[in-house]
Amino acid sequence: VKRIAVLTSGGDSQGMNAAVRAVVRSGLYFGLEVYGIQRGYQGLLNNDIFPMDLRSVGDIIQRGGTVLQSARCKEFMTLEGQQKGADVLRSRGIDGLVVIGGDGSYQGANKLSKLGIKTMGLPGTIDNDISFTDYTIGFDTAVSVVVDAVNKLRDTMSSHERSSIVEVMGRHCGDIALHAGLASGAETILVPEVPFDMDEVAQRMQSNFEHGKRHSIIIVAEGVGKGEDVAKEIMARCPSYEPRVTVLGHIQRGGTPTPFDRNLASKLGDFAVRKLIEGESDKACGIINNQLTLTDIDLVVNTKSSIDMDMYELAIRLSQ
Ligand code: ATP
Repeated sequence: VKRIAVLTSGGDSQGMNAAVRAVVRSGLYFGLEVYGIQRGYQGLLNNDIFPMDLRSVGDIIQRGGTVLQSARCKEFMTLEGQQKGADVLRSRGIDGLVVIGGDGSYQGANKLSKLGIKTMGLPGTIDNDISFTDYTIGFDTAVSVVVDAVNKLRDTMSSHERSSIVEVMGRHCGDIALHAGLASGAETILVPEVPFDMDEVAQRMQSNFEHGKRHSIIIVAEGVGKGEDVAKEIMARCPSYEPRVTVLGHIQRGGTPTPFDRNLASKLGDFAVRKLIEGESDKACGIINNQLTLTDIDLVVNTKSSIDMDMYELAIRLSQ
């Protein structure tokens, strides 16, 4: 490849900017021309493509969001849209594309590769729901946002001896709930991957209060359902508790990326460029046991990511 482009797509995540920066700077370092595409696949179809230089990615490593902006694009879901996208890239002399996004964005990259564009996917999502990588870019920051919020809730909950239900993001994946729950010492962590019994949850709360606990934190992954519904179930069993519900929502996607996310993004962005130069295509970049890995996008999008059961059981052991 001689000329590559980079885009961010789907939901934004902290660290996407660090990944864009790494793609641009590594590409230039290795003698490529690098272009940025605004607003994901929508920008590609609109030919919203501009050259990037070293300075165009200055002062962004610490910023949340994405300077390239992100979008969801229906037209690109069609074969005509994908062909148009490939034609636009060819008309600009671009033969390699780095796509930073989630599962859906990976599928778009997969389609483009079948139309002759060399593609690399980088896992950019807070949800950590992509297989063949231990971590996605933004996950660590989202977990620290949740932990920070739970710390604050604990202060007020223990003053009033209340229980708190915190609904967190993650789509169908419970990783944000699990990692934030363990780190914040939550009494209960509800994730979609592990079935639970609401009677047991309520009993545990009751026994914790009887044994002198002054507060109780329940973290609910959005894949399980709404925090409000969990609160109703608890109220039906223990009417005196009146759990307070906090839905953290989009603040989990904001804020400055943690050093972990910045470094992960930097490593993966550089890796994607080097692999494109080596002629690889249609691959997802990831990190497994601290090793950078390449996996066929087809395999990644067709494999469900799994939850760390050892960690889940540890959280239960420590939550008494
Ligand atoms: P997140 O997990 O943060 O939501 P995502 O990448 O999964 O990120 P999607 O909205 O699923 O987000 O996908 C982003 C864009 O990728 C879509 O708007 C669409 O343009 C493109 N895309 C998604 N699925 C496909 C597909 N099957 N074929 C082609 N393009 C797709």
